[in-house]
Amino acid sequence: MDDIAADPSHPRYASLLMRHRLEVAAKKGMLADSAMIAHGRGEAFDYLLGERTTDSALRASRQALAALQAAQRPVLSINGNVAALACDEMLRLANVLSCPVEVNIFYRTPERMEAILGHINERKAALSLDVAVLGDAPDAHIPGLKGPRAACHREGILESDVILVPLEDGDRCNALVAMGKTVIVIDLNPLSRSAQQGSITIVDELSRALNTMLAVAADEGQVDLDEAYDHQAVLNEGLAEMLSALKQP
Ligand code: ATP
Repeated sequence: MDDIAADPSHPRYASLLMRHRLEVAAKKGMLADSAMIAHGRGEAFDYLLGERTTDSALRASRQALAALQAAQRPVLSINGNVAALACDEMLRLANVLSCPVEVNIFYRTPERMEAILGHINERKAALSLDVAVLGDAPDAHIPGLKGPRAACHREGILESDVILVPLEDGDRCNALVAMGKTVIVIDLNPLSRSAQQGSITIVDELSRALNTMLAVAADEGQVDLDEAYDHQAVLNEGLAEMLSALKQP
């Protein structure tokens, strides 16, 4: 899938690979104009984390997986950046959970929707996965949101009880929480509105978080929910990890 010139032994290879994926996606018309800015904000926080999965992120990923496995109607939401950066991982996770993915984007245009859906369906065929891909025919609205970004599928996002929304904006995250859903956020910025408002927030880079969930599911199968899980405490630990990096001599 990736035709990148950089050498895998380059210390910044993973970061270069993600940038390359965004460049390719931009050329395909999958991204909003602000996509690179959102990515840059994430990269800055990842630098402070040392580009690694922390203990608190691992705990959050395990709790997220447990919540998705325990759900009656789980769904994985995909926007342009997510489709560009981690399409295969999202499809694999949906396959493991036997749930749909739904394309749901902030700046909805028919062209962008078509480009993103085309990319996802191409990867789904390449991976030979039997995953329902929703988004092309929305028949419902997320209450509390205005305009095209509220559009969603009844059988997907609207009726879901647990929803994974990586790299989500604060307004939509808030609207989903207000609907009473368990909202799982993946966001490198522990201070963002989405990270704060989500039910479970994984402060980790998108593909690392998804690969953690896939690895735990493969190794352990069904994971138990941690009844003592404390969302705010886990977020604070993520922030503390970043601040401790600043204190190094
Ligand atoms: P909010 O509206 O929630 O306060 P925001 O305005 O910063 O946040 P957006 O710009 O809509 O949010 O979304 C980008 C968010 O995604 C940022 O918080 C950024 O840190 C995060 N992010 C970007 N790339 C990645 C990535 N690869 N992995 C994880 N998080 C990322």
